[in-house]
Amino acid sequence: MSKANRRSMMTSLPAMATAIAALALLLLALLRRQDNGWGALIWLGAFVATIAIRLPHSLRNRANVVVDARKDVTEKLLLTAMFLAMMLLPLLHLATPLFAFADYRLPDWATGVGAALQIPFLWLFWRSHADLGRNWSPGLEVRDGHALVTNGIYGRIRHPMYAAIWISALAQPLLIHNWIAGALVVPAFAAMWFLRVPQEERMMASRFGAEWDAYCGRTGRLWPGSAPMIGPQL
Ligand code: SAH
Repeated sequence: MSKANRRSMMTSLPAMATAIAALALLLLALLRRQDNGWGALIWLGAFVATIAIRLPHSLRNRANVVVDARKDVTEKLLLTAMFLAMMLLPLLHLATPLFAFADYRLPDWATGVGAALQIPFLWLFWRSHADLGRNWSPGLEVRDGHALVTNGIYGRIRHPMYAAIWISALAQPLLIHNWIAGALVVPAFAAMWFLRVPQEERMMASRFGAEWDAYCGRTGRLWPGSAPMIGPQL
């Protein structure tokens, strides 16, 4: 067996086990839909949609040759915290009564706000993956032949994918009424935002130099740069 085949088998085994476990939790969660409430059903639908949006990009971009990767302890901790807070804990909570002790109640209109937020979330999530294309990676990486994307949604803001995740993180506690499975994602993503974005921007600056600086001059992080006082600071 070639080295590449062995490597791809070794990376695909844990991925397959994770996929099967996630599917089992998803089915169990659907069986408990009466206990979980309609907000949780919306969350589950959006969860499946995010996987459908991301999967083709994950599979295709596995062939990328990485020339610079910033995988320090902080980055690994942040990714683990996000995996727990945004995927594993909500799925576990919806599939089992494990965290029922940490439930809270919200009025229907609040759940409705969470449901409505799924529309801008999924649109931004889809658009940013489509615009980044081969240059997308879940970790902080620069690939061989990396192009600086400044068109599409990236022509207006520098971090549309993180903007999408912000919307999703703020909506999650409105859909899943539980301190552990719903609310924990807010501090987890806040940590990711404040610690990772400066590091990502330093990486992009060292790869693209003046081109990156000019791009930053005409865009904001989360809000179009043309909005005075908000753009560059956010
Ligand atoms: N921060 C961006 C992208 C998140 S994905 C957003 O929120 O939309 C993270 C990877 O995207 C980084 O490792 C970096 O290599 C890549 N990236 C970020 N901005 C980019 C851009 N404008 N052009 C090309 N690649 C970019």
